[in-house]
Amino acid sequence: MRDFDVIVVGGGVTGLGVARDCALRGLRVALVEEGDICRGATGRNHGLLHSGARYAVTDPQSAAECVSENAILRRVAKHCIDDCDGLFVNLPGDDESYRAKLMEACRRIGIGVREVDGREALAMEPKLNREVTGALVVPDAAIDPFALSIANAIDAHRHGASLLLRHRVERLIVAGDKVSGVIATDLRTADVVELHACVTVVAAGIWGSSLLSSAGISLPMLASQGTMLVYGTRPCRHVINRCRVPSDADLLVPDRRVSIMGTTSVRVDDIEHIAAPLPTADEVHSITAGAALLVPELADTRVLRAYAGIRPLVAKDGDTTGRGLSRGIVCIDHNTRDGVKGLITITGGKLATYRLMAELATDAVCRQLAVAEPCVTAERPLPGSDVEPTDEMRPPSATERVAIARHGALAREINMRGSQAGALVCECMSVTRAEVEFAIKVLGATDLSSLRQCTRLGMGQCQGRMCACRAANLLVDLGCKTPDEALRDLKEFVGERWRGQQVVAYGATMREAARARHTLLGLSGLHRDN
Ligand SMILES: Cc1cc2nc3c(=O)[nH]c(=O)nc-3n(C[C@H](O)[C@H](O)[C@H](O)COP(=O)(O)OP(=O)(O)OC[C@H]3O[C@@H](n4cnc5c(N)ncnc54)[C@H](O)[C@@H]3O)c2cc1C
Repeated sequence: MRDFDVIVVGGGVTGLGVARDCALRGLRVALVEEGDICRGATGRNHGLLHSGARYAVTDPQSAAECVSENAILRRVAKHCIDDCDGLFVNLPGDDESYRAKLMEACRRIGIGVREVDGREALAMEPKLNREVTGALVVPDAAIDPFALSIANAIDAHRHGASLLLRHRVERLIVAGDKVSGVIATDLRTADVVELHACVTVVAAGIWGSSLLSSAGISLPMLASQGTMLVYGTRPCRHVINRCRVPSDADLLVPDRRVSIMGTTSVRVDDIEHIAAPLPTADEVHSITAGAALLVPELADTRVLRAYAGIRPLVAKDGDTTGRGLSRGIVCIDHNTRDGVKGLITITGGKLATYRLMAELATDAVCRQLAVAEPCVTAERPLPGSDVEPTDEMRPPSATERVAIARHGALAREINMRGSQAGALVCECMSVTRAEVEFAIKVLGATDLSSLRQCTRLGMGQCQGRMCACRAANLLVDLGCKTPDEALRDLKEFVGERWRGQQVVAYGATMREAARARHTLLGLSGLHRDN
């Protein structure tokens, strides 16, 4: 039994942001997460740092939330952001009048926007469909959800927050008209833990509504699946949006060396089993068709994998797809709404607005605790963005430059001394042995999955075929795992990578992927029970 000021349920970017904000305001905070961080929508989204333009016409409230947060994150989380700008392009057959409508809406909300004709658009992005008729340029950008979440986790921890990973909250503890904590299970040991706090914040994404029901509170949510495809190249420098009302397969976001195309919106009913939602063949076909229309060379580009995430939309009656719902922020003090004290829900919103969501939830916590400390997260840079890389940090080798791009100033803590330090573990993403050691010691990676989140190991062209075994060996060498544990981890990792490939691979690619998987499992002696 342990006592805190605040318990945060959920280790997605929202929960981590709340834990950091609470800790920075001097509160004793515990964050409880069922898996590793980024298990939910945070590890399964498009990675667009919205300028707000995408929703300026259809959802101005949500667009306005993005405008100020976009500017703030560019300051305080700059190492997580690829400041590439975005184009909204019109293709023949599109309703050209939408461009004027979008420009007008952007201006009204305060989004910097500039119109260019088809020729200028092609000069900016030569690989676009040659028939592009015109475009708008907006301050969209790409953001790395893993780096952002890890930076929040590090700072929360540095300021005293306890992060309980692999702990599932079974239920809220209700005493009279007050929630006084949570009962959780440590999933590694099956021990039951009781945590007490004055306020509990539910930041559990789509799972929030079932957790709230344990306190007798109803918050109907609509689960909307979105699928994305990872293409093995980056044909465009900018984020490319189709200039029309947001719909399926109309957004291409660069992600360092690869590109992510999506998305879809499909209603899902069985939310208890959606920790790793599976993209469907229909979704894959619709996205590949949309990609080829925007950037024709993508028709012949290898799709590395598909993945899907679930949008937690707080439901309104009558909408069956989820497209009609606001993607705006929902922050509920359940004392006001349901007469239950000590309980706050924060959900909806976006990756791009996570900081504002955390601020709103923490303000609500502080009101309940009568704490007057102001929020500082709009000014205080995250670890990694807190100092500029200096000249002596500016290193000679290409792999070290990649590490700085990934970790910002935190890369100072990568120890490049030692004969093996520069040895490559993952060729596709240029991850060195030194960076793996840093991910374990500084970023808290404990297995292949968290190493992937910390360094992007296994996320490139080969999807772990070359690096997974080496990394598993390193986990043993560095004392993180026993050989048996490392083998189990390897099997899980290979299975997870395969899951994302099997829905997009066919023909020779499918044969190659299947052979690689069986070779890896066979060499590791894992094929028998697979
Ligand atoms: C397909 C798709 C594309 C998107 N694209 C973008 C985009 O390009 N840009 C953008 O800004 N936003 C985007 N979003 C939205 C963004 O991903 C989410 O708004 C954001 O990640 C939500 O974070 P969260 O922390 O609130 O929820 P989550 O990331 O879902 O985190 C909830 C966490 O709670 C944990 N949890 C649940 N129940 C329990 C329990 N009982 N005990 C312990 N832990 C529990 C889960 O394991 C999970 O880790 C997209 C979303 C989707 C689905």
